[in-house]
Amino acid sequence: MKPSLMDFTQKELMAQIKPSFRVKQIYGWLYHQYAESFDDMKNIPKALREELAKKYVVNPLKIVNKEESSDGTIKYLLQMQDGKTMEAVWLKMKETLTDEAGNTQQEAKYTICVSTQVGCKVGCSFCLTAKGGFTRDLTAGEIVAQVVTLKRDNNHKHNRKINIVYMGMGEPLDNLDNLAKAIEIFKEDDGLCISGKRQTVSTSGLSTKIDKLGEMDLGVHIAISLHAVDDKLRSELIPMNKAHNINSIIEAVKRFPIDTRKRVMFEYLVIKGKNDDLGSARKLVKLLHGIKAKVNLIYFNPYPGTDYNRPSRDDMVAFQEYLINHGLLCTIRDSKGIDISAACGQLKEKSEGEI
Ligand code: SAH
Ligand code: SF4
Repeated sequence: MKPSLMDFTQKELMAQIKPSFRVKQIYGWLYHQYAESFDDMKNIPKALREELAKKYVVNPLKIVNKEESSDGTIKYLLQMQDGKTMEAVWLKMKETLTDEAGNTQQEAKYTICVSTQVGCKVGCSFCLTAKGGFTRDLTAGEIVAQVVTLKRDNNHKHNRKINIVYMGMGEPLDNLDNLAKAIEIFKEDDGLCISGKRQTVSTSGLSTKIDKLGEMDLGVHIAISLHAVDDKLRSELIPMNKAHNINSIIEAVKRFPIDTRKRVMFEYLVIKGKNDDLGSARKLVKLLHGIKAKVNLIYFNPYPGTDYNRPSRDDMVAFQEYLINHGLLCTIRDSKGIDISAACGQLKEKSEGEI
């Protein structure tokens, strides 16, 4: 497998390709023009293009399947050079803008949900990605290329704002080096210029790696997939909770450097009859006391073969109201793309059958 040009920061490419102004041009082709091949790079001399083509590929991903939902969500199945596949999702959200006169206006805002691994080692009992086990880490270039590929496919200009959430397949902190490299490449001024503030790393709670990510000081946000308020249930849902229990996660979150205006997001997957009662809501309030937190409630999204069920809307709303009445910010994630196999791993499963 040849490396992709997207595996490297601009500085790293400058150490490999001379003269360095060519790297600036190549960067423009990669991240402003979304070039697909060396032939696209018209202002690069043919001899250099041929030399580069021997060593690198431009974009290591191919779109093999695409499902569009009525709400504007588009789910992509992407294939890598070794034939393995993973998912990325294009999410359309609405942002309300208010001008000085108090007039409000709705503007479309986009978020890309990216994968960091093929499969996952964490093995959560509710997650379809976990069912196929772990195949391999994605390279930094394969992470970066998901954003380039989706922006290109949606004619989204390089300088239009985009948010990235690392919430696709895999556990980002289990692939920390490549994740950190991808975050750095996204931030490059001559590239996509996506600041850390626009990037959110979602983790199942590897507390020691949360500390490591914090030490790297990349300016990103974190989202913690908490899902349970006691270690017994959490260990049933997320087996590695035995090694990284709730308390160790909360302590790691308290040490994490966050922008003082921002909050740490706690994701809480609600499963009928498991964690949807107000007793759990009460414990959650206690657990998050003293943290600038925001809770995002997620409906469990069932798939064939699972024993878990989707909670009722009434229970979901009652849970949310309890949290809000006790001083916590709380949203219910609207099930984006529910008609297109929304939760992670579900398009891959549908397209390829048994994983
Ligand atoms: N591994 C990381 C990021 C990827 S999973 C993590 O666990 O945080 C992204 C989100 O999808 C997690 O919050 C996870 O709980 C959620 N998810 C997994 N399976 C789901 C399902 N069947 N229904 C709804 N959400 C699900
Ligand atoms: Fe891995 Fe996240 Fe799925 Fe758990 S929920 S198996 S950590 S991808």
